[in-house]
Amino acid sequence: MKTEFILRCVKAVQEAIDTHQADIESLDREIGDGDHLINITRGCAVVAAMEETLRPLTPDEVFIRIGKKLLSSIGGASGPLIASFFMAMGETLRKQGAEAITAATFAPAFAAGVAAIGQRGKAGLGEKTMLDVLIPVAQTFETLAVQGDTPALCQALRAEALKGMLGTKDMLATKGRAAFLGERAIGHIDPGSKSCQVAITAVCDTVEQAIGASKTDANAVA
Ligand code: ADP
Ligand code: MG
Repeated sequence: MKTEFILRCVKAVQEAIDTHQADIESLDREIGDGDHLINITRGCAVVAAMEETLRPLTPDEVFIRIGKKLLSSIGGASGPLIASFFMAMGETLRKQGAEAITAATFAPAFAAGVAAIGQRGKAGLGEKTMLDVLIPVAQTFETLAVQGDTPALCQALRAEALKGMLGTKDMLATKGRAAFLGERAIGHIDPGSKSCQVAITAVCDTVEQAIGASKTDANAVA
């Protein structure tokens, strides 16, 4: 994975959040305070505007810069949580010191990012938050990354994200604003889990498109 590819993913995530804005907004209106879409859209726009600054940087630096920027530019509970995800991911990649990032090196970095969200938000699985998508995705990513079958990996991560997001519907919230609603939050999907599912799906789609394009290029050359 190179910086140019990360920039493509940023655009894909921004577009996907735009496509799903009505869903995300209504979910946070139902069990939150209605600002989640604004926070996430702002975060995407801020990162997209960093394109030229990020382009010459290595992927670890890219993630650390994104995290720092998000910390100072998005509000809500989700701002600092997502910021800590990017910073921990970048710091883990920096420690690995590998020149090229592969699925096998990226999976532990992603898991470190998810763990940082858990620490910062003092939350875990089953609390009706974004972690109900991120934790199972991180676990599946670490299990499958070493197998080297990228299309199967993308398919599994998308499926895990969807399952995690849908699974928040029947949960009682014990963290975040929805926790104040008690049983009234049951029957509603957590907005943060929805935006994470949308983002993960967009990245997996972008990876698949990149593989497809490189196959086409190889065929064209052959
Ligand atoms: P706020 O809750 O401050 O209005 P947002 O609306 O941007 O912030 O984000 C809400 C989302 O943040 C929730 O849907 C949930 O997924 C996530 N969230 C809230 N609190 C926590 C927490 N302690 N740990 C993990 N995720 C959390
Ligand atoms: Mg909110």
